[in-house]
Amino acid sequence: MGRIILTGDRPTGKLHLGHYVGSLRNRVLLQNEGNYDRMFVFIADVQALTDNADNPGKVRDNIIEVALDYLSCGLDPEKVTLFVQSQIPQLHEITQFFSNLVTVQRLQRNPTVKAEMVLRGFGEGEHQDDNKRGLPVGFFTYPISQAADICFCKATTVPVGEDQEPMIEQCREIVRSFNSTYGPVLVEPEILLPSSAACRRLPGTDGKAKMSKSLGNCIYLSDSAAEVDAKVRGMFTDPGHLRVEDPGKVEGNPVFTYLDAFCEDSDFERFWPDYANLQEVKDHYSRGGLGDMKCKKFLSKVLNDRLEPIRERRHFYEKDIPGVYEILRKGSQAAREVAAQTLHEMKDAMQINYFDDAALIQGQAAKYNG
Ligand code: ATP
Ligand code: MG
Repeated sequence: MGRIILTGDRPTGKLHLGHYVGSLRNRVLLQNEGNYDRMFVFIADVQALTDNADNPGKVRDNIIEVALDYLSCGLDPEKVTLFVQSQIPQLHEITQFFSNLVTVQRLQRNPTVKAEMVLRGFGEGEHQDDNKRGLPVGFFTYPISQAADICFCKATTVPVGEDQEPMIEQCREIVRSFNSTYGPVLVEPEILLPSSAACRRLPGTDGKAKMSKSLGNCIYLSDSAAEVDAKVRGMFTDPGHLRVEDPGKVEGNPVFTYLDAFCEDSDFERFWPDYANLQEVKDHYSRGGLGDMKCKKFLSKVLNDRLEPIRERRHFYEKDIPGVYEILRKGSQAAREVAAQTLHEMKDAMQINYFDDAALIQGQAAKYNG
């Protein structure tokens, strides 16, 4: 069994640096290494609708944004099947069959579901005055639909950020349950996390634990150089570092976390020859005597250096929007064919292939007619 890679993102906004270091950068590396049988990357619009049911325009408009972000990071439609989730109807059938193998109690224990319920204001209350919305069934069960997204192509490898760990674990449980109940059709996927902690969960510019579209603390891949400068200048740092001569904290300081995620030794030679590497900067900042602004200026240069080729490719693809939709249309067509094959195997194993099963029909006929 070869290696099949799959990941996706919700079209709830443009992609940001968290997506990049958490998953996108890995995907492009994997794509270019070429050590796989097939690679799929998809736009999870059905999942986005689970908490944006009242905002279809937002989801619709962000399909092209996410597609442009993918292409601008270097995903190559010749090598990777890029598709849109809603265009694969088989995913709904797979989700339905999986939902019989998962309990409400198990979903309630899923830590990502719990955290996102709080983030999105879904709670017990159904009334306006408690400031909470009721919990949509589709949102509550999205880990099941996500398992279908992974299983339709028998993915072996899922490169994602660490917030997705509970999702992959739940998917593995579903696969084990399906295979032991009906027969060995599906494959248990492995999560592929970035190697450094900074990349597994990049914090927001406000210092909050996770950069997230929903929190508005993002630097987007499509931000201009001036926007990146301004966002970095306004970044949260160590609130105790008031005067330049004060000792500063590196731990939990997002400026340094971003540097951990992005900077390389060669950047010092190019942009900040006073230091040889990041450790020297961290040591100086911790001792005191190094101001936040100098560190931010350097970070801004490093980020813009990484983002510039991405912006350039984006501008290239922006000139051919119909071509980008065509890439998604073709990819969706190809993904449907794969999904139909897997669903066929699943239905065989589940014995719901009545009309293809001559033995069943003859057996029932014999029962009634001797
Ligand atoms: P939303 O707020 O709508 O949930 P999001 O910003 O969390 O959006 P998703 O589309 O849910 O983004 O996540 C897509 C992928 O990007 C997942 O693999 C996720 O782990 C990864 N990812 C998102 N944010 C970060 C982050 N701050 N650090 C590392 N990985 C991230
Ligand atoms: Mg998310």
